[in-house]
Amino acid sequence: MQQTKQVQDYIRTIVDFPHEGILFRDVTTLFADPRGFRMAIDQMLHPYAGERIDKVVGLEARGFILGGAIAHQLSVGFVPIRKKGKLPGRTLSQDYKLEYGEAIVEIHDDAIAPGEKVLIVDDLLATGGTCGAAIQLIERLQGQIVSCAFIVDLPDLGGRKRLQEMGMNVHALCS
Ligand code: IMP
Repeated sequence: MQQTKQVQDYIRTIVDFPHEGILFRDVTTLFADPRGFRMAIDQMLHPYAGERIDKVVGLEARGFILGGAIAHQLSVGFVPIRKKGKLPGRTLSQDYKLEYGEAIVEIHDDAIAPGEKVLIVDDLLATGGTCGAAIQLIERLQGQIVSCAFIVDLPDLGGRKRLQEMGMNVHALCS
């Protein structure tokens, strides 16, 4: 009998991208499949049934695709967190460490009202650096973070632990 495909079965692995020695988990094959994409969105939403969420925050770039679909499903607003220099209005910036060097992410300073309940969404959790910076931005705007939701968690890279130490709920569909 044929096994039903699960979310992880739609994700492909690209060897040596973007650098030699990296195994890149490519979710575009999940997004491209109508059943896989719907299943991923439904499963990402499942833990929050009945919970108040006022805004979905998506992290550039694949978090925009997931976050847009999730915000639409919840009938709430969507807020992007982008790399430095991409947002047109007044922004707050947050820097964070990469393996080599630093990066900066930004949010519009009027995108979240104090006390709003926020769900953060991205495709993949590795070291937690990107999501950690997003958490700092949202907390600086006094948003209340309900949870951080991902498709893939790479537990060996420590992101889940790092976010939990920041007091976050973390959900991922597969690891
Ligand atoms: P972190 O900041 O180390 O947790 O890395 C997570 C960020 O890098 C997310 O925005 C991901 O989209 C991206 N990322 C890192 N590795 C991968 C991968 O293998 N596949 C897809 N995205 C990745």
